[in-house]
Amino acid sequence: MMHLYNTLTRQEEPFAPSHDNTVRMYACGPTVYARAHIGNFRTFVCLDVLRRTLRYVCGHQVRQAVNYTDVDDKTIAGAQQAGASLRDYTEPWIKAFREDMAQLGVETPEETPRATDDDNLRAMGEMIGALERNGHTYRRDGSIYFKISTLPQYGTLARLDREGMRDGATVDADEYSKDDPRDFVLWKASKPEEPTWDFGTGPGRPGWHIECSAMALRLLGTPPIDIHAGGIDLIFPHHENEIAQSEGATGQTFARVWVHVEHLFVEGGKMSKSLGNVYTLTEIAERGHRASALRYLLLSSHYRKQLNFTWTGMDQAEEAVRRIVDCRARLDTVSGDGTHPPVRDAIEQARKAFTAALERDLNTAAALAAVFDLVRDLNAAIDAGEMSASDADAAKQVIDACDQVLGVISLRQAEDAQPPVPAEEIERLIEERRLARQRRDFAASDRIRDELAERGVLLEDKPDGTRWKKK
Ligand code: AMP
Ligand code: ZN
Repeated sequence: MMHLYNTLTRQEEPFAPSHDNTVRMYACGPTVYARAHIGNFRTFVCLDVLRRTLRYVCGHQVRQAVNYTDVDDKTIAGAQQAGASLRDYTEPWIKAFREDMAQLGVETPEETPRATDDDNLRAMGEMIGALERNGHTYRRDGSIYFKISTLPQYGTLARLDREGMRDGATVDADEYSKDDPRDFVLWKASKPEEPTWDFGTGPGRPGWHIECSAMALRLLGTPPIDIHAGGIDLIFPHHENEIAQSEGATGQTFARVWVHVEHLFVEGGKMSKSLGNVYTLTEIAERGHRASALRYLLLSSHYRKQLNFTWTGMDQAEEAVRRIVDCRARLDTVSGDGTHPPVRDAIEQARKAFTAALERDLNTAAALAAVFDLVRDLNAAIDAGEMSASDADAAKQVIDACDQVLGVISLRQAEDAQPPVPAEEIERLIEERRLARQRRDFAASDRIRDELAERGVLLEDKPDGTRWKKK
């Protein structure tokens, strides 16, 4: 049975959905004002492994929502700077995020709402209305605030000391006046030049926290939802405030299990723009690495441990992926009759160890160790000629079942099937080269050919034009 560490109780607990075998899971998605970085993707890849484990190991259905935060200070500032509407500004970032998630082999969640969808804004307005009726709010200068002293359970998730909270520092950056520095904004009064809506709230825009509470309950149904997840930095104030809003509005527990993914560090430090180490998938590709290796690296350590990204680690991840993929390919070459009990034992042991590791709070490090033990034993058996075709089939089945959760081998196979350079780019370069030759600029035409060759694409000039093939 699956066990998950619940931040709410600070304990590992047996996990099952509350009813009808469907796990209802919400994860806080990206703020869409920039390309997501590999730290963000650690969270999303780990949550994808959780989703896949629940589906393929535990046999549950999953109904997952991951939102796009497309209205907040940063997206508004970005849109203003670009002279674009909020929608026009956030759309390309959403598209980039979807493409990156697909490249990393992350399964598409059932729901990917934007905060500014009318239905979601309406749900936020309704939730704020319920909070007002329940006496949890006050209005000041056109904004609406949540009064945390009205909710006895406030601080439970983050284990805040309620006494200490009184004179605590302001934690919710926001320039409006509040009764208590810890009170947080639900709806911000409209300002000139900012997008404005009114859903019974008065003109303004939602605060960040209300977006997730309202979308989670609108899309996943009656509380409590089964799992609420995100990166560890979201525990406070974001998730604490989500609980306050949802529970203050409904009187029901919001989420049963809270899952938090530890941060990714880069070369031992935090990722930050000033250090120039905020890597995206583009930088990973520019260094010659593929998304499958990054996916492997991101899931190679337990999600509750900090993970340190290094380029050496990326090289090792490449090597590890290659080892598994090569072994899987080698199994296709095995022939011969009968069965070999030691091979069957190794396969069965790996299957059990893999499942047990994932059921132990998603211990992906131990699950991968089980796969590598199997790879070692299989390679040794093939070398010794002690494997039959049916043994190989049994091994393939188990490796493929493991990969349903890991999603690394299938991703690498899909990458291998792709041209090394996008087809449209190759076509464009072929045309550029044709024009260069037409104006007898052979240096430029050779450069294009050589650069493509370096990237794994060979050009062949035929009487009827230039064709290309993989090197
Ligand atoms: P944001 O776009 O900043 O709202 O972040 C999207 C998700 O990525 C949230 O769940 C964050 O907690 C998570 N996140 C941000 N930085 C990191 C990091 N360095 N490591 C892992 N997760 C992160
Ligand atoms: Zn959230």
